[in-house]
Amino acid sequence: MIQELEELRKKAESELATAGTEEEILTLKTKYLGRKGLLTGILRNISNVTPEQRPLFGKRSNEVKEELSARIDAALEVLAAKGADDALLRERIDVTLPGRGVKPGRIHPVIQVSWEICSIFSALGFSIAEGPEVEEDYYNFEALNIPKDHPARDMQDTFYVEDNIVLRTHTSPVQVRVMEKQRPPVRIISPGRVYRPDSDVSHTPMFHQIEGLLVDRGVTFGDLKGVLTSFLKQFFGEETTLRFRPSFFPFTEPSAEVDIQCVMCKGAGCRVCGQSGWLEILGSGMVDPAVFKNVGYDPDEFTGFAFGLGLERIAMLKYGITDIRLFFENDWRFLDQF
Ligand SMILES: [Zn+2]
Repeated sequence: MIQELEELRKKAESELATAGTEEEILTLKTKYLGRKGLLTGILRNISNVTPEQRPLFGKRSNEVKEELSARIDAALEVLAAKGADDALLRERIDVTLPGRGVKPGRIHPVIQVSWEICSIFSALGFSIAEGPEVEEDYYNFEALNIPKDHPARDMQDTFYVEDNIVLRTHTSPVQVRVMEKQRPPVRIISPGRVYRPDSDVSHTPMFHQIEGLLVDRGVTFGDLKGVLTSFLKQFFGEETTLRFRPSFFPFTEPSAEVDIQCVMCKGAGCRVCGQSGWLEILGSGMVDPAVFKNVGYDPDEFTGFAFGLGLERIAMLKYGITDIRLFFENDWRFLDQF
């Protein structure tokens, strides 16, 4: 019987040595140590052993059982450790791989255009002034020579906050606010948001304007032409052709609109310029004496000119954008291009 026990031990050990997977080892465990296993079977036959040999057989059987059990556990442990190593190798993090990165923000194209225009006028000696977007009716209309019954009020539909409070419809009220506080010479440029209840491919209820004002002794229409020509050639290119066209604004007299030759078709006529070959860029004029009187300037002593332009329109022309609403949809695929 002891002989049989030793043979069983050797057989189990050699089988264990060739078992490569967890499943194989667990099968061996059941085969030898299970309730119906071979080793258990031998022990069950202890009655076949002579009484003298029983203690020795019992002791040896337990030794073999414990030994085999320990070997099987050790083999399983080795296998588990190897599995963990394999997993580490397989799932290793390559720290040299580039990261996904954070997408950097971009300056909005309208703001870029605003900065560019401000920088051109700064170089010409203008300083930047700002005013409130929720504005008094007085500054938005009345002080700019647009009295309550003036037909010019029909030209601008207006968002009213209260009876005498509006969302400013243009940046021109800043002119009045600055002149109220400051004696000439005045040289300001004023970018900002303005509001009108319009919405289509070329209008949004909120858009941006930039306003300019220059007041001093002896300022003439020639100065207006010189400053605006210099600005437009710096902004659109030295070869830009422009024209001054008579116009009307309540707060300037005389007034002129300024066109540049179409940047798309170079004057040949296209859809963007409505086949005219020209693009309307800004409104301008000599400050109306009535406006000077409202802020306490003597129109006989001082003259000046003012101008204003829409920043979205300028940005659309500069970058070839055909729908103004793209500026405000916050789609990074659009914004990422600037
Ligand atoms: Zn054109």
